[in-house]
Amino acid sequence: MDRLSGKTAIITGGASGIGAATVRHFVAEGARVIIADAQEEKGQKLAAELGDAAAFQRVDVTQEEDIREVVDGCVERWGQLDCIFNNAGFGGALGSIETTTVEEFDITFDVLLKGVFLGIKHAARVMRPQNSGVILNTASVAGLKTGESPHLYSVAKAAVIHLTRSVALELGEHGIRVNCICPGIVATPLAAGSPKVGQEALDKLAKGLARAQALGRVGQPEDIARAALWLASDEAEWITGHAQVVDGGAFAGRPWHRQAEWITADRPSEALSPGGSLAHGEIGLDSCGRENFHDLWNPALRHHRGGPKRGWPMSGTEMDLLLERAAISDVVYAYATGLDRRDWALYRSIFTDSIEMEFSTAGIRSGTYSADKWARNAERLFAGFSATQHTSTNHVHQINGDEATCVSNMQAEHFVARLDDEGPAEGQDRWTLGGYYVNELVRQSDGWKLTKVALNVTWRFGNPEVPLIAARRGRALSSDS
Ligand code: NAD
Repeated sequence: MDRLSGKTAIITGGASGIGAATVRHFVAEGARVIIADAQEEKGQKLAAELGDAAAFQRVDVTQEEDIREVVDGCVERWGQLDCIFNNAGFGGALGSIETTTVEEFDITFDVLLKGVFLGIKHAARVMRPQNSGVILNTASVAGLKTGESPHLYSVAKAAVIHLTRSVALELGEHGIRVNCICPGIVATPLAAGSPKVGQEALDKLAKGLARAQALGRVGQPEDIARAALWLASDEAEWITGHAQVVDGGAFAGRPWHRQAEWITADRPSEALSPGGSLAHGEIGLDSCGRENFHDLWNPALRHHRGGPKRGWPMSGTEMDLLLERAAISDVVYAYATGLDRRDWALYRSIFTDSIEMEFSTAGIRSGTYSADKWARNAERLFAGFSATQHTSTNHVHQINGDEATCVSNMQAEHFVARLDDEGPAEGQDRWTLGGYYVNELVRQSDGWKLTKVALNVTWRFGNPEVPLIAARRGRALSSDS
């Protein structure tokens, strides 16, 4: 009962909801509190109920003079200011971004951000010479996550979190702690939509939103007040710059059993190992498995296409994204298939007009080539191999509008036949290398095309002469024809 014994505090928004509950808790723990609020009747009533330990002062938190006066008044009355809780707030501008007026923007930021700024500024003015003090601000989980509150409310609360952290860094060396609380849904007039609502509306809100948090009930003002009490007390003496979430678990997400059926359904998982499963086929043409070229999302895609559809929750956008990734993987697949099958039309079709090639392999020149020239080079080189085999796994890394990057793991085996006197000795006819490609693609009118291919060879074995022999043979073949 004496966690704040002898301390003084100002609580803005102290006439109602979270503020009023905090006033009661602070007083119960030995503090003297100024209730600083725009609602005079409610504030006076609460002050009267609490006797000498509380006083009401009418304050508009958007007005610097009001804040200066309440801070100076506290010091005059009780000799010091140990804690300010910048908590006053309202729901701010509602509606779509286009219909939000500049006036609504200004008042939202005046109350939710400027009000907090002024409270911090004037509290710091008197706390710095004291070399002690606690500043608490009310932010919100809306400041950590968009999509569950009005635009400007969310932005203003995010700013309060940043302001808290930033100022904590400045005032820490003066022994002043600065923290904020991020409440989830709390049954107060603000959450119910109007300062005038009664208990009935609050009960209705609490009932309707009970399942929005893991702990199965909405917050009550006392839940936040207890967190404020702890942060204001010496028990939290080593805590500053902190955004304390108090939300019954809502910010953590939805409980498992309330997640989408594809997550909760009891079915075997389909996974490709990160390295991918290599297709070990017969050495020769067409030995790479198409499935291997599809990235980790694609088992889900296949499941969707071929598997039971009941309850599949994939949205159109998610589906489009998976199909996009599949299309990109197909281009990379065509790269190796074209080479292995000597399908030069397919091979040519996957590049933009000019193609940048970057090789970490000694002896192969990096550069920018016309797609035609590059395909002719490849055709000549591969004509000299008696067999090639590429295997690969592909991961679409990023799609950014009309540009994409993907990374493909790669293993390639090249053989030259020992046909003539320049051929390698037995056991020396093979050249195997592995590594990864970093591919860049752009979307063109006829689909995704490769615009840059960087091959990073990380291991190789076999006879390094094999590609050179193949190149010589390829040149000979093409000049013969
Ligand atoms: P509430 O409506 O019960 O209390 C808000 C108080 O702020 C009122 O007494 C009001 O008179 C006062 N106030 C508003 N504008 C003022 C101004 N310009 N000057 C002085 N006083 C002013 O609501 P609450 O839920 O207790 O809100 C307290 C804080 O908690 C707010 O900052 C709010 O944004 C935040 N919050 C609330 C919830 C929630 O679900 N209730 C969730 C997250 C954060």
